[in-house]
Amino acid sequence: MNIREVIFEPTSVTSFSIHEFGDGQGPSIAITAGVHGDEQTAIHTANLLIKLLGSQKVSGRIKVIPICNPASYRSRTRCSPFDHLDMNRFFPGNAEGSPTMQLADRLWKETRDVEFLVDIHCCGVDGSTYTLALYEQYPEMKELAEALGIPVVIQSGGQAGQLFVESCHTGQKALIIELPGGQPGGVINAKAAEECCEALNRYLIRLGVLEGELHQSQVTFYGRINTLLAPHPGLFLPLATAGARCDKGHLLGTFEGHPVIAPFSGVITNLSQARYCFAGERMAGVAPFEKDL
Ligand SMILES: [Zn+2]
Repeated sequence: MNIREVIFEPTSVTSFSIHEFGDGQGPSIAITAGVHGDEQTAIHTANLLIKLLGSQKVSGRIKVIPICNPASYRSRTRCSPFDHLDMNRFFPGNAEGSPTMQLADRLWKETRDVEFLVDIHCCGVDGSTYTLALYEQYPEMKELAEALGIPVVIQSGGQAGQLFVESCHTGQKALIIELPGGQPGGVINAKAAEECCEALNRYLIRLGVLEGELHQSQVTFYGRINTLLAPHPGLFLPLATAGARCDKGHLLGTFEGHPVIAPFSGVITNLSQARYCFAGERMAGVAPFEKDL
């Protein structure tokens, strides 16, 4: 008998790649993307960073994992097609659990030997770029968010089971970056990916891992995101831009012809495109200025 394997596509759905850089003489950082496999702006950012790091002297150690959830990447879904779990609710995982639990366990173990962790995600095609941090609980995260220099920094709700949340609880210095794109359909916002790669470059220069000029970027801290939901089925039409600042009372759009206004001054994190919304669907996300809290 003879058995031959025929590979019709090289994408593996049960393994992930780790790209390692550096001489180990300095800080250690893990940069992860694709925990939600359809969040392709994040995956593209990680791939841009891998290309950048290939031509740089790295004083320290950097691990980049561009596709943390290969099965959900291949199926372009947030959750795994194996067990329909959202992996970013189950860290630190379980070596004897379902496929997503096992994968979370392996990712968790692979990211334990670093001091810093940046997990890159997407917040939808109607979203904007921002850093999410547990800066109220861990004030030292403010300095790291400033090192990234992404202008909008938002306090995370701290949902348990997230890679960055559980990492912070173990004493690691972990942040999330949210980027526009991803859902639906796994689309890439190429400009956002390029800007995020620049932010990661700034961050690595600030940590002393890469060589380069230090740039001082102005960041603003905001509280948790407040989500404005459609109260019943109806037509939402946007009249603002995601990523823009807003004053209290600022017109975000209309719902069934009635104004939808910002409940406080802050930043518009998400704004739905024009669509018929059903009850409970998001029309907008707004985060208040930290100083107003
Ligand atoms: Zn995500």
